[in-house]
Amino acid sequence: MEEYHVVVIGSGTAGQTAAYDLNEKGLRVAVVERSDHPGGTCSQYGCQPKKWFYEATETIFRCRHLEGKGIAGIPRGVWPEVLREKSRFTSAVPQRTVEGFQKAGIAFFRGEARFKDSETLQAGDTTLKASFFLVATGARPMPLPFEGAEHMITSSDFLELENLPPRMIFVGGGFISFEFAHFAARLGPPQMQIHILEAAERPLGPFDEEMVQLLVEASRDEGIEVLSNVKITSLERKSSGIVVSTASGENFEGDLVVHGAGRVPDLDGLNLEAAGVNHSRRGIEVDASMRTSNERIFALGDCAATIQLARVADEEGHTAAANILAELRGGRPAAMDYGAVPSMLFTCPQYGMVGKTEENLREEGMPYRKSFGKNLSWPTYQRLGMKHAAYKILAAEDGKVLGAHILSDNGCGLVTTFKLAMHQKMTVDELYRACIMTPYPSRESDIIYMLKPLLSG
Ligand SMILES: Cc1cc2nc3c(=O)[nH]c(=O)nc-3n(C[C@H](O)[C@H](O)[C@H](O)COP(=O)(O)OP(=O)(O)OC[C@H]3O[C@@H](n4cnc5c(N)ncnc54)[C@H](O)[C@@H]3O)c2cc1C
Repeated sequence: MEEYHVVVIGSGTAGQTAAYDLNEKGLRVAVVERSDHPGGTCSQYGCQPKKWFYEATETIFRCRHLEGKGIAGIPRGVWPEVLREKSRFTSAVPQRTVEGFQKAGIAFFRGEARFKDSETLQAGDTTLKASFFLVATGARPMPLPFEGAEHMITSSDFLELENLPPRMIFVGGGFISFEFAHFAARLGPPQMQIHILEAAERPLGPFDEEMVQLLVEASRDEGIEVLSNVKITSLERKSSGIVVSTASGENFEGDLVVHGAGRVPDLDGLNLEAAGVNHSRRGIEVDASMRTSNERIFALGDCAATIQLARVADEEGHTAAANILAELRGGRPAAMDYGAVPSMLFTCPQYGMVGKTEENLREEGMPYRKSFGKNLSWPTYQRLGMKHAAYKILAAEDGKVLGAHILSDNGCGLVTTFKLAMHQKMTVDELYRACIMTPYPSRESDIIYMLKPLLSG
């Protein structure tokens, strides 16, 4: 039996962040990981690898829009080369992860973790005892109820494909489908057929409906067909391809079908009941300190019933670590604040949002004012030849920024300004004044045009 102050389950970004924080303060820390590829989703199968495909996609997208406006000939995407470059990065992650732990003096155990009781964990052949446990086991693709679901590939498989076939179908209109469909449209063979099939009335449920509609139009111009209200009943592999049957009788046929229908917390086999940890379909229930129903056990990252994003996972890791240190060493406790968490779609153009959507505000019955523009013809977008740029800024009656939605290249950078404004609880007048002297002319200097209609007078 090995004893530690803290045992962390999962070596992804959430688990690592907490483990290093606690180890730096002198606690005895162990990490348990079941995968042969330690290091987690973000660096191997998520945020980082996909950006290799995104950079190539965006470069072609920009050239395509500037063709005849100073650019002659659109460059061709070479998928296998992007794959090779991405793999150079991802293949180094497992060894780097384990060496990092060794160098820091964090114990590392390979094996599937399972609680025996609230103080004891079985990790493969090793039994571990600890004063605190951190569950950071991430998420996995949501099981889908129709026949033939095994014919779909996952997002991780997509990022390992050696080449793209001419017909691709994405199941589910979430962020993975949208982003990957945009990569395929620019990096796949010419004349690709790409469908996104969404079961609900519209795709990208958590995003603003009006802005999503604009992204759907922009996607269509890139050769991506987005269909809603499509209830898939089965998938069948035939000699000509994979046939997707639907409740309406309409069938689709693709060479590959990709699961993009969401990810669920990965809690199988943990035996959380033995540890007195409550959980639901959304994940492990936590309070703002990241404590579960067992105050000695914390949950963080994608397995917690919060928000599935990498930097949220990191902040949850810092928060849990701070609260353990507060208890053991008398430091300052910490609490999570999810009030201004930006979400990004790495499509072309990008869609970035922070704060509320109009639907959120209507549901909450909260009065708001709105500044909205689409098909922007500001010089920024004339120079780029981009016709789908749009924005929506939402403000409370007292002028506080409630939400921002940007469809543009560099949507990330633009949304970050609004995120900071929300974090600082700034009014639109204050943000306007703060933004006047930004580098000009730039995307960021356009922010004052978005804010002007909301100024107090
Ligand atoms: C395709 C894709 C694209 C994404 N893009 C973005 C993006 O652009 N921006 C962003 O912010 N987020 C993005 N995300 C989400 C982001 O990757 C996650 O929020 C983040 O990786 C979660 O980290 P984590 O540490 O909670 O989980 P993970 O990194 O998944 O780590 C969990 C670890 O726990 C291990 N584990 C599970 N069960 C056990 C067990 N019983 N015993 C031992 N070990 C176990 C797993 O093997 C895994 O290594 C993306 C995700 C995907 C899939």
